Amino acid sequence: MDLPEVVIYRGREKKLRSFYPWVQKGEVKSMPEGLEGCLVRVVDHQREFIGIGTATNRSRFPVRVWSLKDEPLDQAFFQERIRAALDHRNLHLRDTNARRILFAEADRLPGLIVDDYDGHFVVQVRQKGAEMLREQWLPALIAEGKPKSVYEKSDMLGREEEGLEPTVGALYGSPPSEVPIQESGLDLLVPTHEGLKTGYYLDQRQTRRRLGELVKPGDKVIDTFCYSGAFSLYATRAGADCLGIDIHPVAIQTAEENARRNRLKPTFIQANAFEWLEHEAKIHAPFDWVILDPPAIAKKRGEKNSLKWAIWKLAYFTLPHLKPGGTVIVCTCSYQLSIQETLETVRLAAADQGISLSLDAITLQDVDHPAPIAFPEALYLKCLWLRRLS
Ligand code: SAH
Repeated sequence: MDLPEVVIYRGREKKLRSFYPWVQKGEVKSMPEGLEGCLVRVVDHQREFIGIGTATNRSRFPVRVWSLKDEPLDQAFFQERIRAALDHRNLHLRDTNARRILFAEADRLPGLIVDDYDGHFVVQVRQKGAEMLREQWLPALIAEGKPKSVYEKSDMLGREEEGLEPTVGALYGSPPSEVPIQESGLDLLVPTHEGLKTGYYLDQRQTRRRLGELVKPGDKVIDTFCYSGAFSLYATRAGADCLGIDIHPVAIQTAEENARRNRLKPTFIQANAFEWLEHEAKIHAPFDWVILDPPAIAKKRGEKNSLKWAIWKLAYFTLPHLKPGGTVIVCTCSYQLSIQETLETVRLAAADQGISLSLDAITLQDVDHPAPIAFPEALYLKCLWLRRLS
């Protein structure tokens, strides 16, 4: 294939050949101007082939590598990648008809996310390269995934850096604006058009399943940043007395609808979780369980301190209201903050309150969000289960 060439500085090719997909600006020795997501040949300083990528001059990551073989990125290429991704999910996921079927770089498809809600697919395109390859991946997705419909919800931040406008709308069939799904025997409504992200937080599945197994009848549970109420429903079904808090009206409406569908009675309130924990929590305390699941505050390295500060505050306000023996589940969904750093941040808050905690477990994003170790950025969601000792 006769493609423009991007030359990588000496020494920077090794990580690419070991399946790391991103090339940073400072690693590019030369590339043509004016590339807007087109296919390129990535070569090392001796002009030896590394892989086929897509390139965008303006991005912080001007090149994304799609394949280490000199092959066309045609429909057949995408069908093979999609088939591999589906095989993994089919083998490992049980008791749900909702799953992430493509997780971008983690499935070796940079910038392309697809969630499957009972056959209704919701797509997010995050990068220019994936955008330019739409005519190849969309027919491949339809052929392999056999969806009932496909809806695009590419309205996330970060697209403008790639020179992309927000895009939403039907790509195939007649996508419904809400899709009922089943997860662990719960009936949940997914607002695919008006909700956050693609409509549901599939990634927290293993953490809510574990909560559902551990909560005892009569336990008092606080589910902060509850979104559509999934943690609350698992807890209430187990017999707990649960309060869910979210700032977003659509989240609370959906959570209430989900409670009705399952004939469960958690309480949901629309509030700022930081303020609620600081001022209101004492009225309802003490708690057996508190879930802290704030949104990804830190997308970039520079924002890490604000995420640490947020975690510190949440832990600091929560801990005095936790019963001895009670557990706080601290979730961070940003790659920028590691498990150790999250733990250290909570340790400081606990020390400031004179409370001691024990780490019982760490749960991660569920298996439909793979975490290849060659691409550490893929492992973004960590939940620390911390029990109050005294
Ligand atoms: N726990 C949820 C996912 C949480 S996503 C689940 O398992 O499905 C983060 C949520 O935090 C979003 O629903 C967002 O509306 C909410 N949020 C953001 N800032 C908030 C704040 N200050 N107080 C309360 N909720 C907030």
